[in-house]
Formats: sequence, structure tokens, C-alpha cells
Amino acid sequence: MIRIIPPRSGVAFEVKRGEHLKVIDPQGEQVADLVAFNRHDTGEAISSGRSIDYASKIYLTTGDPVYSNRSRVLLRIVEDTVGRHDFLLSPCSAEMFGIIYGDDQPHRGCFGNLSEALAPHGIAPDAIPGAFNVFMNVPVDAATGIIRVEPPLSRAGDYIVFEAQMDLLVGLTACSAGQSNNFAYKPIHYEVIAHA
Ligand SMILES: [Zn+2]
Repeated sequence: MIRIIPPRSGVAFEVKRGEHLKVIDPQGEQVADLVAFNRHDTGEAISSGRSIDYASKIYLTTGDPVYSNRSRVLLRIVEDTVGRHDFLLSPCSAEMFGIIYGDDQPHRGCFGNLSEALAPHGIAPDAIPGAFNVFMNVPVDAATGIIRVEPPLSRAGDYIVFEAQMDLLVGLTACSAGQSNNFAYKPIHYEVIAHA
């Protein structure tokens, strides 16, 4: 069953080992921040640093594993119709909107949405790791390291599928940052698919 995350909001849910998590961009050009924890020991969470280190690249796609802070594979990407996601930048937050956009009354962002969604599962805000930013398009200049946040390459109906490698608690958002989403806030769809 496909579930809907309304614009600028987030959810938390469980995914069992072997199940597939499909994240769909229903309208195109919309980012979804994804975090994941070992369901049975939430001190273990996705790690961008370890995943990038072991993959020796910053753009992960089909076939690539997503590692935890304890160097175990939490998720594996098994399908990807876009091929461009960001694993460098932290979830958008009220503080970030103040620092980068100069907002006086900033939205709480993906970080605030993840904090609220994960709180009932015992995850404190400080324990939220850097997210795998599904569909986020952050090209890097190879010589200078300068990064740009560009509109996602995803079009309506594009998706990515992860296979859970252990029982997981997942946080997922429809991102709230203007620049990341070509200045239009759209929903994200997702589906947890039981393994056969
Ligand atoms: Zn965001």
C-alpha cells in the first residue's frame, strides 16, 4: 500500500529485514530525507562518512550498500531510476533556514519533522544522523570542492528501492527546503513491500 507524506512533513515506521522500502517522487523534483536505525539497538544508525568511505564515491545508486556507524550494512539500494542522491548535507532545520536563507520565522525543516516523528521511538534530536537525501542533487566541483544545490533530476514517478539488511526504524520526510526542491513543496510517496 502506498503511503503519502504531505509537503514539509515527516514520518517514522518500521521496516523488517528483507523488506523493500520504495520511495517515490510523485510529481518530480522533490527530495526525501531518509534516516535509519537498528530497530533493536537505536545507537546504531546510518553513517554517510562510512558509506562514502567504503563506496569510494559520494553518489550512491543501485547495488550500493548504506552502512551504519558500526560498519554494518543497514540498507542496500536495489533499484534506482534517478541515480543522483546526496549523502553529504544534513537535514534542513530552523537554524539552517536562518543561516542560509535569513528567515526570521523559519520552518522547522526535515530535522524538526524527523525529531517529532522519531521521538515516540526513543530517538532524541541529537541522535539523528546525517540523512540519505533521496533525489537531492548536489553537484561538486572536483577541483575546488564547491558544492551547489540544484533542482532534483527526478521526474514524476521516479523512485528508489532499498532492501533492509536488518530490522530497521526509518524516518522519512518530504523535504522543506526551497532550494533543494526547485522552490515548490510537494509530497513524497512510499511503500514497504514484504519479501516474497
Ligand atoms: Zn529538508
